[in-house]
Amino acid sequence: MNRYAVIAGKLPREIVLLRGLPCIWGRCTFCDYILDNTTDLNEIRRVASRELAKVTGRYSRLEIINSGSVQELPIDVRNAVRELLHDKGIREFICESYWAYQRSFAETLAFFGVPTRLKIGIETFDDHLRNDVLGKNIHFESPAEVARLTDTICLLVGFRGQTRDLVRRDMDTLLTQFRFGCVNLFTPNSRSEGLLDADIQAWFREAYAWLAEHPTIEVLWENTDFGVGG
Ligand code: SF4
Repeated sequence: MNRYAVIAGKLPREIVLLRGLPCIWGRCTFCDYILDNTTDLNEIRRVASRELAKVTGRYSRLEIINSGSVQELPIDVRNAVRELLHDKGIREFICESYWAYQRSFAETLAFFGVPTRLKIGIETFDDHLRNDVLGKNIHFESPAEVARLTDTICLLVGFRGQTRDLVRRDMDTLLTQFRFGCVNLFTPNSRSEGLLDADIQAWFREAYAWLAEHPTIEVLWENTDFGVGG
């Protein structure tokens, strides 16, 4: 599996996929990336040391993902990341976090010592779809509550139950209330049989093709578009 890539286009950066401890939630119905989680600390450290060594700092921007939340990287690996950020002159760091860690977001952001963005996988602002269909267990009163915690979210498009109107509403919320976003076209996998809605995906590809020109909203037409994973 490729774990290091360079994204040269929008928001140019290096991206590294590490292995982490098991996701604290682990029950989202569409998620198969947790199959990369492990309790083998030596393996986590081996992967981190091999992949972090590839980072050059060429764009002064680095994203690190670990098929879960950054808090699920052992502390010595997080320390190694922090050192790397300083050694390579990284001026923007991006990582992911699940909603349940929100009480420690401020601490996590301060930990790395450089401007850091936490990506949160909200997937949709529709409560029923998010919690009953996708099993996210993420509850909030309004998008504004999410926007107070982060300026960067991920949305998921093309799964059972979504309508064009609901997708439009999610996209409007993303575009008006958040600065950065990553829209993932749902990729079927072994853990999500029957979840794909190919019609919604086909419509979205056409209706939102213009996002290719948007400076801060990225669309992953395939979940390996960043060049890592698969
Ligand atoms: S919180 Fe994220 S990593 Fe954990 S199961 Fe859900 S989508 Fe997967």
